[in-house]
Amino acid sequence: MPWTNYHNHCKYCDGVDEIETHIQNAIKEGVVSLGFSSHSPVNFDNKWSMDKQDLNNYLQDILVAKQKYSGQIEIYKSLEIDYFPQQSGIIKKWVGDLDLDYSIGSVHFVDAFEDGMPWEIDGPLMTFEKGLEEIFRNNIRKVLEKFFEYTIQMLERDCPNILGHIDKIKMQNHHRLFFDENATWYQDLLKQTLEVAGKSGVIAEVNTRGLYKKRASETYPGLLGLRLLKEFGIPICLNSDAHHPKEIIGEYKNTAVLLKHLGFKELMVLKNNTWQPMPFDENGIHW
Ligand SMILES: [Zn+2]
Ligand SMILES: [Zn+2]
Repeated sequence: MPWTNYHNHCKYCDGVDEIETHIQNAIKEGVVSLGFSSHSPVNFDNKWSMDKQDLNNYLQDILVAKQKYSGQIEIYKSLEIDYFPQQSGIIKKWVGDLDLDYSIGSVHFVDAFEDGMPWEIDGPLMTFEKGLEEIFRNNIRKVLEKFFEYTIQMLERDCPNILGHIDKIKMQNHHRLFFDENATWYQDLLKQTLEVAGKSGVIAEVNTRGLYKKRASETYPGLLGLRLLKEFGIPICLNSDAHHPKEIIGEYKNTAVLLKHLGFKELMVLKNNTWQPMPFDENGIHW
């Protein structure tokens, strides 16, 4: 049965493989609509973002593949764009300048170290602990407040088509318990954020990467977030955030079962260049 995936990283950022290898594997797995979303370039050094000088080749490679595989699979070009509060408008600018088919907006960085280097909240444990101590004096609640504040700012000022992994910061709880996801203050933050998402017209992704990488016991967002998405009527799409062709539909089946159980009836898909809701079950989308 057909699946879709709009969150994929290839060799142009921190993925490992060629665009074509992703596509060939996607076709094998029954994917009918696939979007590439490399980490967009940023103006500081890091290991996972695309180099600015590679942007044109990246987009060109996708267009060539789109032609080559037309009739077998729909291919779309995108970027996973970081939101920084001081760079408002950047998501819309990328989409306009590069003629992207859609955008994913994600918060990966919260504030910066003393030397100006932004702090990644979904990196290694050591980096997380360092930022928590040096920037936030070990006040984890302040970190979460900032993380969701920036997510809300992104939704209000620079709204992408897809909201990336809403609560990914909770992956750090897999190493050791930094905060209680059942605490009222945390649940309130998530609720306030999704309330804004509900008014913004954004599509929320249900991201399976934490599950198949065994870095989380739930999707991003987890059960609480999924229930809120349902409550606020926010449209969802299913994405694997694949960094390797074999991850293209990782944990899709189990997640689809859960989504059906929670009462979701449709997933948003890009078909013929248009976002539209389509019914699904655990075997795929009713394409
Ligand atoms: Zn991301
Ligand atoms: Zn990603």
